[in-house]
Order: sequence, then C-alpha cells, then structure tokens
Amino acid sequence: MSSDSSEVTVSTLGEAPASISKLSASPDPSEAPSTTVLVAGGGICGLLCGLALSALGVDCHIYEQRGTSGPSHSGEIAYLITEELDKFLAAHKVAVDRKRVRTAGRQVLADDGDVQLQDSRSQDYISYEALHSALLECFPKDNYHAASKVTLVDASHPDVVVLQLDSGERIAGHLLVAADGVTSSVRQQLLPNCQPAYAGYLAWRGVAALDSLSAEVQHHLADKGTLYKGANLHMLVHPLPCSSSSSAAAGEGQPLAWTWFNNQAAEELPGLLLDAGLRVYPHAVPVGRLSPAVADAVAAAAAEALPQPLAELVASSTRCMGVAAVSDMALPCHALGRVAFAGEAGCVARPHGSSSVDKALQDAVSLADTLKAAKFSVDRALHAWSLLRVPQSVALCRAAAAAGNRLQGTEEC
Ligand SMILES: Cc1cc2nc3c(=O)[nH]c(=O)nc-3n(C[C@H](O)[C@H](O)[C@H](O)COP(=O)(O)OP(=O)(O)OC[C@H]3O[C@@H](n4cnc5c(N)ncnc54)[C@H](O)[C@@H]3O)c2cc1C
Repeated sequence: MSSDSSEVTVSTLGEAPASISKLSASPDPSEAPSTTVLVAGGGICGLLCGLALSALGVDCHIYEQRGTSGPSHSGEIAYLITEELDKFLAAHKVAVDRKRVRTAGRQVLADDGDVQLQDSRSQDYISYEALHSALLECFPKDNYHAASKVTLVDASHPDVVVLQLDSGERIAGHLLVAADGVTSSVRQQLLPNCQPAYAGYLAWRGVAALDSLSAEVQHHLADKGTLYKGANLHMLVHPLPCSSSSSAAAGEGQPLAWTWFNNQAAEELPGLLLDAGLRVYPHAVPVGRLSPAVADAVAAAAAEALPQPLAELVASSTRCMGVAAVSDMALPCHALGRVAFAGEAGCVARPHGSSSVDKALQDAVSLADTLKAAKFSVDRALHAWSLLRVPQSVALCRAAAAAGNRLQGTEEC
C-alpha cells in the first residue's frame, strides 16, 4: 500500500477487501482538520477524549455499543469532582453545577459504630449519568454513533486504522482511541495477554434511600462521607445525587451509596458474580441486578462483620445491590501502531485514593496535548504519549494496590 494513495485497501477484515476512499491516507500532518480520530466506547473516557480532541479541530467520531436508553451499569457510580475535572468542565462549557451533591464533612466510624474521627471538609460528587449526559450535550451530536458496537480492529496498516462495527460497516481513521472500558474488546484483540488481574477482594455496592433507614442511622450517615476500617475489610458511604437511576430504584429520598470491600478467594467468584437469572458476569454485576440469594447472603455477612449502622444500610439495599471484582492492570505500552488505550481500557487501578475519572481525564488531556505538540503526526504523538503514560499508569496502579493491600490486610502482589 502506498502512503500517497488516497484509497486504502483493507484486506484483513472480512472476506472481501473493502475500499475506503473518503480518507486521505497521508493527511497534511500540520493540519488538524484533515485528521480523523475514531473512539471506541462512548463512556466517560470516550467523551472526555472526544471533547479534548474535537477542541483541536480534528474530525472525531465516537462509536458506542449502547443504544439511546442510557448507561447500563452506572446508576451507582458517583465520581468525586476534583479541581482538574472542574477546570476541564468549565473550559469545555460542560454544565454540571445543578447535578452535583455536596457532602457536609467526612467521618471515620469505630467498631461500635460511633464516630471516631471527623472533619468538616466537604466534597462534591456527581453521578455517572449526570456527568455522561452533560458531556454528551457538548459533543457534536452527529459524531456520536450510538448502537454501534466495535467488533474488529485492523491495526496492520502504516497510515490508517480500520474498525468494523457489528452492522458490518468498516470505518477508517488516522487514530483509534480504545476507550471501551475494563473489558475492552480492542485490547483483547490487540494485546490478548494483558488482562486485569483479580486483586483478592470484591467491592459489594448498594444504594439505599435515606428514609428507609432508622432515624439514628439517618442522623449518623446523612450528608457525610464515611469510612469504616475493620479487620481485613473497609467500607465507604456517601450521598448519591438524586438524579441517578439507582436512586430512583432505591426509593424516595436522598440516596446513600456504599461500597464494602471484602476479601474473597478467586475460586468463589463464579458463585457470587451472579444476576437474578444466574448469569455469571466476568467482572461486575450492576447495582440492582445481583442475585437476590447472593444479596441476602451479603446482608447476613454484613450483620456479622460491620458496625450496626452500616449493617442496617446493607440490609436496606438488598434490592439495589451489585458487586465488582477489584482488579489491577497496567499495560506495557499505552499505544500500539495507531491505537491508543485510554481510561480503563489502558489501566485498571483499584478504586482507593484517586477517582478513576481523573485517570481518564489525564489520558484525554495529555493525548490532545501530545497530538498538538507533534503537529498532528499520529505516529510521533502516540510514541511520545505512550512513553509518558506508561510510567504514570504503573505508579498509579502500584500506589492504589499498596493502599488496597493496607486497607484489606492482603499481600503485596
Ligand atoms: C461496576 C463498576 C463500578 C464502578 N464504580 C466506580 C465508582 O464508584 N467510582 C469511580 O470513580 N469509578 C468507578 N468505576 C470505574 C469508572 O466507571 C470508569 O473508570 C470511568 O467511567 C472511566 O471508564 P471508561 O470510560 O474507561 O470505561 P466505561 O465507563 O466502562 O465506558 C466504556 C464504554 O465503552 C462501551 N463499549 C464497551 N465495549 C464496546 C465496543 N466493543 N464497542 C463500542 N462501545 C463499547 C461501553 O458500553 C461503555 O459505554 C466503576 C466501574 C465499574 C465497571
């Protein structure tokens, strides 16, 4: 294939070669508008990358497997809004002010459930859905392709990368950003030996309506960010914005989201990552879909292991519970050919310390900055970006693993 050719022949995808004539195989490297960027996955990271790259003037298209019915696994997820995220949202005119919820301080509970430590530092949270819909509103509507699952990627060409959708359509671009999450199919195809490794503990998650709890527990937990550290376990509780779908499922009133990190042998996972129809999930069962028998067993275990207010919180959430296997994964390279791995497709760090959305944001901003600095030479940009991001991801994974092992009393991997 000549790099001067304006027609790219793709022979390794599908049975018949496909001609993709719209795309110039060698765009003017100094000119952003002639660069086409494809993003696999329209979650938070895909949209952050989409906004950061579109702001450079490149032609950026996002392909998301879900239809328009909204996020499938995200009702319980609430992100801490950091200064960096706030700055990015303001710079891109993403309006989230009315969608955030502010805690009235932080506290640590003792084994008897009493408050052991507290401070008045407030934190702002936003639900996945609220952040996703606000980002989506700011991304060019025609460039967000819902119900478009990426099924294959051909990264064998020097000048372009080609993806295939489940409809059979093939699309070529100069750069593909794999932002298709922790179970990334792009990563599985291109780096099959790089998979998240189970860290030895589960994150049980749930959402309870505040007014479903006793007055004493409401008083204890309402509006606060709460941490409890027990023997080989810990638990976090914080208010969830009322707008999330899980809050609606939990019932009326301000919802509280909780995550209970509990050690569990790997061989027991298939019997626990189960939904009501006994389907086994590889990584996480969304909140609201956990098998009722498993949820009841979790509530019974919580009554034994947790202080009373937290055990009551878990028992009130059995219809609105889920679980995720806590995992680690740092890739040896963040880019391969013309494919960049971003967000959880590129690095899975345990959820202790920094928010996962910050990592996705750093990927998006640094990728856009590097592409601009390389004057839109994708090869040079991805080489530099990978060299930058690999040590940062490794350091993040190590720090998060050390924090998790300390909290759970598990061995350093
Ligand atoms: C169950 C669960 C709970 C979590 N809870 C928290 C939390 O409480 N706090 C926190 O900070 N982080 C949490 N995270 C992590 C957090 O959601 C992500 O790190 C963050 O949203 C950035 O992820 P991402 O965009 O890389 O991946 P995701 O949010 O997983 O988005 C990936 C997107 O790609 C799409 N996709 C996947 N495959 C394809 C394909 N083949 N073709 C097209 N599209 C595809 C998916 O539908 C999805 O929209 C949680 C993750 C999970 C799985």
